[in-house]
Amino acid sequence: MADTLDPRYDAIRAEARGIAQSLAPYAAEADELDVVHEPMREAVRASGLGRLVVPAAYGGESDVLDPLAIAIVREEFAAVSAHLDSLYGMQGVGSYSLTIGGSDELKAEWLPKVRTLDAIASIALTEPEIGSDLRSVTTTIREDSDELVISGVKSFITNAPVASFFNVLAREGDGYSMAFVPADAPGVTVTSGPDLIAPHIIGEVRFDDVRVPRGNRIGEAGTAFKLMLQTLAVFRVTVAAASLGIGRAALEEAVKHATEREQFGKPLLALGSVSQKLALSWAELEAARALTYQAAAQAASNPLAHIADTSMAKVVSTETAGRIADRAVQTMGRFGLVRGSDIERHYRNSRPGRIYEGSTEVLLDSLARQLGKRAKAAEESGGSFL
Ligand SMILES: Cc1cc2nc3c(=O)[nH]c(=O)nc-3n(C[C@H](O)[C@H](O)[C@H](O)COP(=O)(O)OP(=O)(O)OC[C@H]3O[C@@H](n4cnc5c(N)ncnc54)[C@H](O)[C@@H]3O)c2cc1C
Repeated sequence: MADTLDPRYDAIRAEARGIAQSLAPYAAEADELDVVHEPMREAVRASGLGRLVVPAAYGGESDVLDPLAIAIVREEFAAVSAHLDSLYGMQGVGSYSLTIGGSDELKAEWLPKVRTLDAIASIALTEPEIGSDLRSVTTTIREDSDELVISGVKSFITNAPVASFFNVLAREGDGYSMAFVPADAPGVTVTSGPDLIAPHIIGEVRFDDVRVPRGNRIGEAGTAFKLMLQTLAVFRVTVAAASLGIGRAALEEAVKHATEREQFGKPLLALGSVSQKLALSWAELEAARALTYQAAAQAASNPLAHIADTSMAKVVSTETAGRIADRAVQTMGRFGLVRGSDIERHYRNSRPGRIYEGSTEVLLDSLARQLGKRAKAAEESGGSFL
């Protein structure tokens, strides 16, 4: 456990870890669900940790969200249950555009309920044919007197079947806008699924000429990409932290196994290639964690200025967690392949983080562009650019 941070963060970690541990007996069943695990919702609600994902005016802890605090909670939650992590993390990711761009009325109505998990948040960007290339979305928003009309289909939307509202990305004229749509608005149809290898509350959402008041516009018309970027600038690093939690849990399982099981007359941990694998996993976990905490702390003061750092943290941590989980399965031999075991669950749960909220390849592409820009700027001013 890296209690390297100031006492405030250590206290948040201890609080989150305590809740996660108390929910550990439910983890296996919760991680198979496509609906909310109610004891988990109740425990998170009772903990009050929802205070970290909404601003102070709506019952939150601070005026500006602290990505490091959220990251630490997600790390602890994900180490026990991906469902618990998603239930918590998505309250922030799904509501943040409302927080920064919604009307006072909408915020006053919904954000206190987001904090207590009485309202489940969701953000709808992806479409059946559109994933990484979000500038090609086909869902539309148009104004009609004092209403906005939304039409289109979104898929792979976390929380869709249980969501209270969707922040929807859509094309509006030549630009892109965002609208807040309550899940019970006429014309909204949700279909659960598909089933994923790491089960998740997910679904498709159809918007058939859905009408909402003009006041449900999030931000100015044409500013949806800015809102999304601001959301990612705060929350991407929390995905990195969740992956670290999964990697840590997988490594702990593997080390326990390698300590207890003997082959060739000694514990697996004493066999060179096994010990090397586990030690390398540990070193990589700590390196990824240091990068993630640093990026989260930087993002706290100015999220947009540090999006390269948080993107880097997400790439490194999600890829590291994948490698650690894979090595953990290898270390456990046939026992790592047993369906229903904790290690099998962590192995599956380590996979999606490399795809959503910016896939590894898309983030590396944008980091490469940054490198080019920095090199060019350094050419003009002289000196190192990293
Ligand atoms: C568990 C889960 C939860 C999700 N939750 C949500 C949600 O709540 N809301 C939402 O809107 N969406 C959600 N998504 C969708 C997610 O955002 C997309 O899966 C993601 O954007 C990638 O799109 P895609 O899967 O269509 O892959 P594609 O865009 O088709 O990419 C396929 C492959 O090509 C690579 N690739 C794509 N473009 C480039 C490029 N320019 N350069 C290099 N490589 C590239 C990708 O890295 C990937 O490896 C979720 C997905 C999952 C798996």
